[in-house]
Amino acid sequence: VKKIIILGGGVSGLVSAILLAKNDFEVLLIDKEESFLNSLKLHLSFWEPLKNFQKNYKDLSLKFHFQFLQKEILLSEENLLKWEKESFVDQIQKPFDYLIVTTGASQNSTTSNLSITQDATVLTLNDFYSEKWKESIYQLLSSENISFVGGGATSIQFLFELYAYLEKYKLKPKINFFTREDRLLSSLPSFFHEYIHFKFKFKNTEFFPKHQIKSITNSSINVHSLASGVSKDFPSDFTFFFPGVRPSPFRIDTNEFGQIRLSSHIVQNFFSAGDCSYFHARGDNSMSAQIAVRKARTVVQNILLQSKHQGLKPFHYKELGYFISLGGLDGIGWMLLHMNILFGPPAFVIKELIEKQLEFFITGLDTYVDFPDFR
Ligand SMILES: Cc1cc2nc3c(=O)[nH]c(=O)nc-3n(C[C@H](O)[C@H](O)[C@H](O)COP(=O)(O)OP(=O)(O)OC[C@H]3O[C@@H](n4cnc5c(N)ncnc54)[C@H](O)[C@@H]3O)c2cc1C
Repeated sequence: VKKIIILGGGVSGLVSAILLAKNDFEVLLIDKEESFLNSLKLHLSFWEPLKNFQKNYKDLSLKFHFQFLQKEILLSEENLLKWEKESFVDQIQKPFDYLIVTTGASQNSTTSNLSITQDATVLTLNDFYSEKWKESIYQLLSSENISFVGGGATSIQFLFELYAYLEKYKLKPKINFFTREDRLLSSLPSFFHEYIHFKFKFKNTEFFPKHQIKSITNSSINVHSLASGVSKDFPSDFTFFFPGVRPSPFRIDTNEFGQIRLSSHIVQNFFSAGDCSYFHARGDNSMSAQIAVRKARTVVQNILLQSKHQGLKPFHYKELGYFISLGGLDGIGWMLLHMNILFGPPAFVIKELIEKQLEFFITGLDTYVDFPDFR
């Protein structure tokens, strides 16, 4: 029986573990956490406990017949080269036939020239991964001025849930929204920006494009306008800081089959998938769950083919759509073509359906019929 070690049990790691275990491989999944977290639901933290979005790895491993080890693995190019030479991960004393790296992405570290005073309340994505944000609820509900930093999808999804959460308490603080880009969601069609920006008007929210944060205190935020070169203080009692994510711990380049490229050579039995990977292939490299699942399926398919000494298949999957939740029953997204934009309740429903596909998969029901290379 071939032994597989999977480093990282997020969307792509878990999909790989389940599919490979089903195909009679001996799978060891390693994650630094005790439970899988469905990040797609994280913005709903204002309403539901974190445990509703988590699944314990031990339970998953029993259900899908793989082994699980909770451990943080130190990943570096040097370690990968060592493991390649020995077919052995020294940090856990385990041999392997195949290794899959699926360590995902992590929040960009706060920019080095940003200063934050001790008494400032700043929430980052990590505070929602741990429910630490709940320690600041009192400050949040008593804030008259809130700052939002970062114009990506995560930031916007949290903002619209925050509106609804504050409305529950009949609160409508002033919200200043800062981004370094010239518009919201700069990688998506400009209609996304227009639709969301229009809604800001009814939510006491002002938008500041091309602004970089310099410092945060417990009563103000200092921002620098990249357009005018002028820095200014805005009143601010509370900051949500979502500057985006980057591959963790670094970008892992692969060939078109998902095999890892290490110091200019391809390692035949090392694969990567998900947000940490960059496939040099025809398929998309977006950091989305949809792409993470498809990259994982490509990798699993290729491991199966390689173990049978058959030719590997390239990754060619193109994203079919991308949807963002705007709280309540609202949302916006594109489907099939970037210019085919849906908004309002239909977009919300489609986003829910896409997320259900992943949830079904984790309960054992595989509905990914749109990617038939591997069944
Ligand atoms: C708040 C938020 C909202 C999102 N919303 C959407 C959405 O609506 N639609 C969409 O398509 N995508 C969304 N995404 C993106 C989507 O979640 C990711 O693209 C997807 O999870 C990537 O899967 P992955 O397996 O590469 O990484 P992840 O799911 O991030 O998993 C990586 C795993 O590796 C583990 N790990 C990392 N380093 C180590 C280490 N050194 N040792 C051991 N374990 C390690 C982590 O604990 C984690 O479990 C969202 C992301 C976030 C953060």
